[in-house]
Amino acid sequence: MLYEMAQGLLLVKLNKAIGKAAMKSTKDIAELLDEPACEHNKKEKSGCAKPKPGAAAGGCAFDGAQIALLPIADVAHIVHGPIACAGSSWDNRGTRSSGADLYRIGMTTDLTEQDIIMGRSEKRLFHAIKQAIETYSPPAVFIYNTCVPALVGDDIGAVCKSAEERWGVPVVPIDSAGFYGTKNLGNRIAGDAMVKYVIGTRDPDPLPLNTAPSGIKVHDVNLVGEYNIAGEFWHVLPLLDELGLRVLCTLSGDARFREVQSMHKAEVNMMVCSKAMVNVARKLQQQYGTPWFEGSFYGITDTSQALRDFAKALDDADLTARTEALIQREETRIRKELEPWKVRLKGKRVLLFTGGVKSWSVISALQDLGMVVVATGTKKSTEEDKARIRELMGEDTVMIDDGSPRALLKIVHDYKADILIAGGRNMYTALKAKVPFLDINQEREFGYEGYQGMLELVRQLALTIESPVWKAVRAPAPWKKQECSGEQKSLQREEAA
Ligand code: SF4
Repeated sequence: MLYEMAQGLLLVKLNKAIGKAAMKSTKDIAELLDEPACEHNKKEKSGCAKPKPGAAAGGCAFDGAQIALLPIADVAHIVHGPIACAGSSWDNRGTRSSGADLYRIGMTTDLTEQDIIMGRSEKRLFHAIKQAIETYSPPAVFIYNTCVPALVGDDIGAVCKSAEERWGVPVVPIDSAGFYGTKNLGNRIAGDAMVKYVIGTRDPDPLPLNTAPSGIKVHDVNLVGEYNIAGEFWHVLPLLDELGLRVLCTLSGDARFREVQSMHKAEVNMMVCSKAMVNVARKLQQQYGTPWFEGSFYGITDTSQALRDFAKALDDADLTARTEALIQREETRIRKELEPWKVRLKGKRVLLFTGGVKSWSVISALQDLGMVVVATGTKKSTEEDKARIRELMGEDTVMIDDGSPRALLKIVHDYKADILIAGGRNMYTALKAKVPFLDINQEREFGYEGYQGMLELVRQLALTIESPVWKAVRAPAPWKKQECSGEQKSLQREEAA
């Protein structure tokens, strides 16, 4: 074994000698930030939201890269860095897999001061790759670079190349040191690595015999930025199946490595709900001529629109007709099932604090239910998103940029909101203020996509707002009641005397 390791490390040295510099250069980062397909990419070409001193900036570039790729379920994901990078971010999103679950094992090289001082971090990485391959036989290993190894100059590219040569398993470097930038940049770094090292390295599996109904032409499609949070994409997948749309890959919810490899063969790509990995869609269009469109599966209107957009992009008259028939059938069914819930929710006032496309796609879903959206968060929304919000809510709509607890609670009280719908980080703000709260972001436990997801959303809204706990916690505590009644009695006695 020692001989094997020595041989491998010799290979690393060789690959380092012929390789490029270990870390991303300023030019590489500037290129990633300069994303022509992103609306934010105007004036300074400075990419998305810059952190402001004193404000919580969200995740780092490593976090963004890991979020984007961790749902690839059969890959061994190794975080190269001190334990905190992996330890503080492991498994914090509710993405689900239909089979493989290797992605749920948190792997890290767990670097310590000794490793840094003694210069043995690359050795630890090489050993970690060996252990992952020998223990789990994954189809591929992804290595995430973090701040410390990037600062000491570890050449993860060379280590990955050597390990790949040594064990014959693809080992993909994701050079995503946290200090490169924000979470959004990390998403792009991840997408870039997939285009560079993975996509195009394998053809899709042949279609299984007798699966599609006869006479239907099957089209291959991809979804980019679909993370299958709480298994919500499984609400939509049966509809795509029925239409004859074979999903080659959802980058990256419930994906497998071999599916990512074959993404170049899709006829159309859909960017789901977020432009975080828009560089993947753009590069696939440039390199393979695959058209793409942006859509969302939140709410009845948007789900129907996304299905129509697939048919339009594929330019298939039969598919268009079948899509319209399916939409008609599903909308009628779901609207009927929503009726009893709508009665319970009609007129309830909502403060929605989420970002991006969800800031308007969820508004239309709530308005479908007869609810009143009193204000919406626009912190991560583009000008296009804001224009959609105005279209839906009118010109005088309240848009919130300040997501601090104090600002949110002020709006809840000023506008008499019945519920706050936001991300998990706002949960305790709402609960401490005894305001009903529903998690809409990645940590949530219920899937809201598609027609069926709408029913789940309505159910969760009604259960949250109507929960008896709010009445109980808002009432004075029993000992306060006793104190009050004690004081009242003594007052009455004094008056009588
Ligand atoms: S900022 Fe650096 S040290 Fe912190 S979690 Fe991100 S990669 Fe790790």
